[in-house]
Amino acid sequence: MITELHTEWTVEDICEGFVYNESEGKGLFGMGGKLTIQPEYQRNYIYADGKKDVAVIDSVLKGYPIGLIYFVRTEDGQYEVLDGQQRITSLGRFITSRFAIKINGMDQYFRGLAKELQEKILKTKLLIYVCEGEEKEIKDWFKTINIVGVPLNEQEKLNAIYSGSFVTLAKEEFSNSQNSNIAKWSSYIKAVANRQEFLACALNWVSKGNIDGYMSLHRRDTNINELKTYFNSVIDWVDSVFLNTYSEMQTIEWGRIYEEYHKKPYNPKEVSEKVEELYADEFVRNKKSIFEYVLGGCEDSKLLEIRIFDERDKKTVYAKQTQKAEAQGVSNCPLCALGNDNNKNRIWKITEMDADHVTAWSKGGTTDISNCQMLCKTHNRAKGNK
Ligand SMILES: [Zn+2]
Repeated sequence: MITELHTEWTVEDICEGFVYNESEGKGLFGMGGKLTIQPEYQRNYIYADGKKDVAVIDSVLKGYPIGLIYFVRTEDGQYEVLDGQQRITSLGRFITSRFAIKINGMDQYFRGLAKELQEKILKTKLLIYVCEGEEKEIKDWFKTINIVGVPLNEQEKLNAIYSGSFVTLAKEEFSNSQNSNIAKWSSYIKAVANRQEFLACALNWVSKGNIDGYMSLHRRDTNINELKTYFNSVIDWVDSVFLNTYSEMQTIEWGRIYEEYHKKPYNPKEVSEKVEELYADEFVRNKKSIFEYVLGGCEDSKLLEIRIFDERDKKTVYAKQTQKAEAQGVSNCPLCALGNDNNKNRIWKITEMDADHVTAWSKGGTTDISNCQMLCKTHNRAKGNK
């Protein structure tokens, strides 16, 4: 790989003919069309938060360095930004008056700035390394560059490694914050489009967790039909089975749940009533497991982490039960007392017993003292397994 350091290019040179795509949040071109600001392996522009983009302009105005920028020279003599896209896009957006900075507490757009400040920005020289080499070489290097600001997340790195037609199409669908489906997706997935989080989710579902392998296999595909169809099948299924949405739904592994349950028939009205009832049940501690519990036919109540009896209630019940048992000369475990073995008269210590719902929670029993009995650990376990 050949590298060459350029110190003569100014902000004005780099931002000449700057083109920005508002809907995709991408800086597209600069240097009068010779520079591609966001090649496929670059992530979307994430500096537009009124802080990082402003900080870039403040740095330039104060004469602070904004760090090294890396370009790749392609075979046809054009340039692509390898690292520095966020900074260049911030500069380009500012110069084209797309955001303001504060000067003496006042919002100032570029077009309203004093001439000498405009000049100061435009004439600032940047430090740019231009490199030329094999695609693989350059991509390996890209992986090792420590990007200023927000580090690349896992999906952004994978997009860089497997850049190609598939990633381009997949990003158009899943990483475009203007996609009108995002509101629907967001009911079931907690994600930010331009951080590639919907894409990561879609890939995770379709690949059953093997995102890397899937991206490698489909890298040269010219369509994303399977990815899109599978993702929509999962979302549409969840959307049809559950009539209401709850915030906990965003934390659920719908891909796995879909695989496990989508072939079973459900009555959405009944499902939704059951979900609502469990949501209102103060004894259900694990709200996010309600959906799977209901899909599974309301059988596995362990999922719900039903509230347990507190220590004070246990002590009260233990004392009462033990006093009565001693008076009758039987075990203080009511189930031992019914038996015929050596434990028939045994008085267990409180540490040898556990609290049990007399009427099971699933049969409507509550978790209060009136529904609490102490059983020896063996009997409690045996009852729990029924
Ligand atoms: Zn017992």
